[in-house]
Amino acid sequence: MLHIGSSELPVGDQMVHHQARIDMLQLEQSRLAAEFQASGQWDLEGFNSAYDWIRINCKVPGHVAGNYLAVGAHMAQLGQSVQAVLKDEISFAHLAVMAHTAEAVGKAFDETKLLPLAKEHSPGQFYFKCLHYRHSMDAKKYAQEQNDLETNHHLTLTTVESGHLLINGVLDPVGGAAVRAALEPLARKSGEHDDRRMPQRYADALVEMASAGKPANIQVTATIETLKGLAGAAAGEMEFSLPVSAVAVQRMACDCSVTRILLSQESLVMDVGRAKRIVSAPLKRALKTRDGHCKWPGCERSASRCDGHHLWSWIEGGPTDLDNLVLLCRRHHRMVHEGGWQLIKTEDRQIMTIAPTVTFGLPRGPD
Ligand SMILES: [Zn+2]
Ligand SMILES: [Zn+2]
Repeated sequence: MLHIGSSELPVGDQMVHHQARIDMLQLEQSRLAAEFQASGQWDLEGFNSAYDWIRINCKVPGHVAGNYLAVGAHMAQLGQSVQAVLKDEISFAHLAVMAHTAEAVGKAFDETKLLPLAKEHSPGQFYFKCLHYRHSMDAKKYAQEQNDLETNHHLTLTTVESGHLLINGVLDPVGGAAVRAALEPLARKSGEHDDRRMPQRYADALVEMASAGKPANIQVTATIETLKGLAGAAAGEMEFSLPVSAVAVQRMACDCSVTRILLSQESLVMDVGRAKRIVSAPLKRALKTRDGHCKWPGCERSASRCDGHHLWSWIEGGPTDLDNLVLLCRRHHRMVHEGGWQLIKTEDRQIMTIAPTVTFGLPRGPD
């Protein structure tokens, strides 16, 4: 039941009460949506559909407008379920799932089969129950719908002014599951210090997947000043990208994650792609065998997803040999070059990390 002036209640209880009131309003909104749909007012105002009119004028996302219209249109078939919302036994979200199911199933729809399930399950779980119900009612139609979904898949890639890539798309259920199965192991936290949020880890995982196992066929052009990180140097340049910072050029140069780096200086172009700093194939194999995985403490990213990092930078004269190389996953490699972390090799060949804000020798706080 709702209480006016319920602000003495614990905040969680207040939210539950508010949600019940919101559900009542949504129910009423759905009734009005059906009436509005029938009135044809949207047509007179030049809209293509009541759906569009509601979306624009009520300032709601499409699925919200769709829910109002679906519930409104199927209220007659949902008498008991509407009562259940009024008694706060199920939510408006449950009712919306039922209305969409009624739409898909047609005349044979029977709310009494679904109402007990709605009372028992969260709206998300109930949605899956309803899919099973739809399949049980008409397996052929269900298969056709799934097939339609599959042919709706698309992916758009848009590079915006800032150089960021916007990815937007829909994958069919089977393809989507395959992508998730590939991304999820890569998106796990990589040991302590990993404070990336899930969406960030997915983004990193996608990049990692795209560049896994083989050096990206990317060409970077930079001056020797940029490569050395000298003050006043211009940024590097890379295809499909905005100017690349000196530290990023240094990181890419550190391993063979770029196939070649062209140094341009006073119109002199020098290809250092074959210079000694490239970790040769036999050397890389030896490095992978020795280290096995990323050597950042606590990280076990497998060798095939790692770069060879020069502990003593090759730009400053560090040799490209097994002793001076260590395997680092892309994220930890980035933390060293771009993030300012330092790596120290101890006498017994263990790697110690020093955070950029911590002075060496001081005890490190919990992190
Ligand atoms: Zn490196
Ligand atoms: Zn790592």
